[in-house]
Amino acid sequence: TREVHLVSRPKGWPEPTDFALVETELPPPGDGEALVRNLFMSVDPYMRGRMNDVKSYVPPFGLNEVMTGGAIGEVVESGSPDLKPGDVVLHQLGWREHAVAPAKEFRKVTPVDGVPASAFLGVLGMPGLTAYAGLLDIAGMKEGDAVFVSGAAGAVGSLVGQIARLRGASRVIGSAGSDEKVAYLTDRLGFDAAFNYKSGPVHKLLAEAAPDGIDVYFDNVGGDHLEAAIGAFNDYGRAAICGAISMYNATEPQPAPRNLALVIGKRLTLRGFIVTDHYSVFGDFVREVGGWLAEGKVHFEETVFEGVDHAVDAFLAMLRGQNTGKMLVKL
Ligand code: NDP
Repeated sequence: TREVHLVSRPKGWPEPTDFALVETELPPPGDGEALVRNLFMSVDPYMRGRMNDVKSYVPPFGLNEVMTGGAIGEVVESGSPDLKPGDVVLHQLGWREHAVAPAKEFRKVTPVDGVPASAFLGVLGMPGLTAYAGLLDIAGMKEGDAVFVSGAAGAVGSLVGQIARLRGASRVIGSAGSDEKVAYLTDRLGFDAAFNYKSGPVHKLLAEAAPDGIDVYFDNVGGDHLEAAIGAFNDYGRAAICGAISMYNATEPQPAPRNLALVIGKRLTLRGFIVTDHYSVFGDFVREVGGWLAEGKVHFEETVFEGVDHAVDAFLAMLRGQNTGKMLVKL
């Protein structure tokens, strides 16, 4: 079986040579363990942070060790009464074709009608919960708010915009990195306005897309997007600070928003959060978003690379914006 190891810590943009595809022998599952064949693995932006040897909310990946991350698999063999062959499980032993581990590492998932199991890595999984908890609990989005989301065509952002629309936002504005993605936001996902952030200064593009200002900003990008949002905020605006992907490959500390002092006069709230603190609302999230999916009110995309030998390519492509919706690797 094959797995991906981190072999050197990237400086700036990761290179394919920072990783190695390694062939290993699988041990048979022992008592209380299960052997799982992975069907899909996730590549996520936060993994870039784990490649650095710094203290963070998740420990760094070890060098010359298999990496970890979200995956969906099927139980092949089980030494535990809790799992049986054929069960579909969600777990953290991604970046490999097979996993052998104690049964408690694997969480059985109940398939949702008409939704593929891969959705548990995206719209019905960690990124979906990030969108839900971040928009509703952290930014406190309410009916009538004008909502702006960056990274809007990605896994988290595409759901943020749709939840905002379905929860009665007065206007939903998104930014993304290509004209195709912008068309996808307005034509397919029902955003009221969208812009390609590569086509001009973000503050100008945002001012045009949100002539009456914004009340909520869901930040996936940081940098000039955050600065533009601070400029566009109405009084008492709230930002959920979710990610800062424009900075993840920076080798030097990046400048803060130059207009940060506006936070005072506008009485703004900028609030960071980590999704793992919000699993208490997972049930509400699956009920509400699962319901919208079943009714066809929420749309989701997946961009799929094939094979563990293309997992690194998928990760790098995601950082470059080659995904629409959730980036996945089919194993
Ligand atoms: P996406 O599916 O959105 O994929 C990443 C996207 O980022 C790319 O498709 C690309 O789209 C965009 N991007 C890359 N570089 C830049 C740049 N320099 N400026 C603007 N956009 C850029 O990933 P996710 O939905 O999984 O994650 C989105 C954000 O949410 C990330 O910042 C991530 O770290 C964060 N996150 C935070 C969590 C938390 O607990 N706080 C949990 C999960 C995610 P484009 O073509 O538009 O540039």
